[in-house]
Amino acid sequence: MSGAKKPKILIAGGGIGGMTVGAALLQRGFDVEIFEQADELREVGAGIQISPNGNRALDSIGAFETLRKLSCRAQSKEVRLWNSGKVWKLFDMGPEELARYGYPYLTVYRPDLLTACADAVKRQRPDSIHLNSRCAGFEEKNGQVVLTLENGAKHFGDGLIGCDGVNSMVRKLTANDEPSKYPGLMIWRGVIPLQSLPERMRASMAVNWIGPNGHCVHYPLREGEILNLAATIEKPVWDEEAWSAEGRKSQCHEDYAGWHDDVHTMIEAAPKLLKWAYLTRQPLNRYSYGRATLLGDACHPTLPFLAQGAVMALEDGVVLARCLEKYGDVPTAFQKYQDARMTRDNAMVAGANDMVSRFHNPDYRDAAKADAYIDREWSASAIAARYEWLFTYNCDTAPI
Ligand SMILES: Cc1cc2nc3c(=O)[nH]c(=O)nc-3n(C[C@H](O)[C@H](O)[C@H](O)COP(=O)(O)OP(=O)(O)OC[C@H]3O[C@@H](n4cnc5c(N)ncnc54)[C@H](O)[C@@H]3O)c2cc1C
Repeated sequence: MSGAKKPKILIAGGGIGGMTVGAALLQRGFDVEIFEQADELREVGAGIQISPNGNRALDSIGAFETLRKLSCRAQSKEVRLWNSGKVWKLFDMGPEELARYGYPYLTVYRPDLLTACADAVKRQRPDSIHLNSRCAGFEEKNGQVVLTLENGAKHFGDGLIGCDGVNSMVRKLTANDEPSKYPGLMIWRGVIPLQSLPERMRASMAVNWIGPNGHCVHYPLREGEILNLAATIEKPVWDEEAWSAEGRKSQCHEDYAGWHDDVHTMIEAAPKLLKWAYLTRQPLNRYSYGRATLLGDACHPTLPFLAQGAVMALEDGVVLARCLEKYGDVPTAFQKYQDARMTRDNAMVAGANDMVSRFHNPDYRDAAKADAYIDREWSASAIAARYEWLFTYNCDTAPI
């Protein structure tokens, strides 16, 4: 696209996805306004894994170097059996992996990630982020989009990107499909000062404990100062009023009755534990509707069992900005973005669903069956088949 004035793009939602696409568009000279409902930029105080493909996207918006300095590179990843604690080493996260994918696998404190993405926006246009701005509706009129905020204010632009998460307003007004639902799985989340754990549990390692009805992931954050604990358990009914709540340690211990002492040591060491319900939705077969489109959890919320939800939002952001730069015309660009991303996004969501039976499996009750299952499902070739296509993607050069 050359010469003509670039379209003005409105973004609903200032999370990881909204900030990434905002930064990528500003880099390309687009006028951007981001509307976030919260009164400050907020992320839950927990960890998140960013694989090499996500770090490539962060580098593309100029957020990688800052974040790398704040995050952790676990040296290896391993699987442990829920009751015996038996260890299977999965892969090293060392120099070979860096050479292979071009970027490392980082474990990151979520607030640091959001800050890094928001800074990439603010460095270019500090006044493009509007807080306290809950988007209530939009319409397409005379070749423009009109976005209405809950306070009645109206904003005009050439395109609207719905980055407003799993219960997206933009999705409701476009796809209007079934709402999100609780899939019978919840997660306990805690952040533990590493010093409060016994010496032998302080190694720089990402660990997946796998069991018959739950699993438990932990990894270091913030240069190894803290450990992120994320423990998923099957619970048919969610009986809290909100989708997240502070939980009692005794309840968490109960959920993991029979699990190895190391798991209980971590539960006990957590200063605070939060309970979260997962939410899922049916995959979409369309993201783009004229001058409106969807990005990140708004179009492909996922169980986080491949650790790719935010990473896909990062990739979406860079690819969508490239499409707008290349095609200029907003509806065409949004259609091309959908063509470039939807198959990959949906394959990631399906892959994450498939992980449930690998993390939670009745065979894990029996040591011999567990050995056979883990040797098969967690072999080097099985792991490569699950992750290689994800990690090797290049959002800067993928066909659009
Ligand atoms: C327990 C757990 C662990 C996870 N681990 C990983 C991992 O290791 N790696 C990974 O890549 N992903 C992981 N994910 C997934 C990841 O957190 C999400 O995919 C990611 O946060 C999606 O970003 P987003 O910007 O699309 O949506 P969100 O983060 O939901 O952001 C949406 C934003 O929009 C705002 N908003 C909503 N409605 C409105 C409105 N009407 N008007 C204005 N603003 C609005 C919200 O306030 C929010 O700021 C995990 C998820 C969970 C639950």
